[in-house]
Amino acid sequence: AKSVGCSNSYQFYEEELKIRFSEEMMIDNGIQEALSNHQFTLHYQPKVDTVTGAISGIEALVRWEHPELGRISPDKFIPLAERSGIIYKIDEWVLKEACRQNKAWQDEGLPKVPVAVNISALHFSQTNLLDMIHGALEESGLEESYLTLEITEGVFIENVELVIGIISRIRERGIHISIDDFGTGYSSLNQLQRLPISHVKLDRSFIRDIGGEPKKAAVAKAIIELAHSMNMTVVAEGVETAEESEYFTRCRCDELQGYYFSRPLPAPEFSRLLQRGNYAGLFAGGRTD
Ligand code: C2E
Ligand code: MG
Ligand code: MG
Ligand code: MG
Repeated sequence: AKSVGCSNSYQFYEEELKIRFSEEMMIDNGIQEALSNHQFTLHYQPKVDTVTGAISGIEALVRWEHPELGRISPDKFIPLAERSGIIYKIDEWVLKEACRQNKAWQDEGLPKVPVAVNISALHFSQTNLLDMIHGALEESGLEESYLTLEITEGVFIENVELVIGIISRIRERGIHISIDDFGTGYSSLNQLQRLPISHVKLDRSFIRDIGGEPKKAAVAKAIIELAHSMNMTVVAEGVETAEESEYFTRCRCDELQGYYFSRPLPAPEFSRLLQRGNYAGLFAGGRTD
């Protein structure tokens, strides 16, 4: 009976692998098509200034509606796109579209704030990242200071000197660089001081259950203070409740982002948010400095 159970579960595993494999193939093959058939769109989520309650930044997040599989999460297709290399084309499209949209909002007279684009770590082993950025700014007419690149700590695993060189050149142009998901990856707090970056995004895992986990709260506070001592702006991501918002406001986090303020929205809805967007009411009794 034992061996039967074993082979059953093996068969099951094999079956599951096959399904997963063919789904991955479908996704992989689909990305090229998606790029040419305009199946990708961007959603936009605000970052909110904890002092003024104003929208201080925008994050562009890619969305994919697959004709058969329906909506596929970027957490699923971005890793596949990184493996096949097609991520370069996705990120380039996202960068151009986000710059174009931000410039269009500015031309309509909406508040001018930077738009942030997530850039895969893979781009840093290639120096034409600078050309790609230059192209997107040139084509859209967006000013450098209204663009932020969000990169993860994974960028600093290899060739740290080379990566620091590339980032320095991007920063010299006045473009902002933010470390995404900070605190989950490889870089230590000590490494932070070597990096010519402007923003740190505290990972969502630091925001969850902050009340019940004093050690986590202490680490989050330490990161915020250290980043401030290096003149970096700190953003808390994944803020879902009033308690989380209040806690990180009290800790002097500069900007907050999360479902508590708004989910990522399609461009037309986001532009209405940008028009009326002020969350000052949510910060009553918040920061005093
Ligand atoms: P990320 O850059 O860390 O983005 C934050 C993710 O958290 C987004 O998921 C966002 O929709 C979600 N989120 C925002 N507020 C909340 C909240 O209050 N609670 C919870 N639970 N989640 C919240 P999304 O859009 O599914 O993107 C997932 C990841 O995929 C992103 O993480 C980013 O690493 C990657 N990604 C998205 N768009 C792009 C892109 O254009 N290029 C690249 N290379 N990666 C992208
Ligand atoms: Mg991000
Ligand atoms: Mg993040
Ligand atoms: Mg992430």
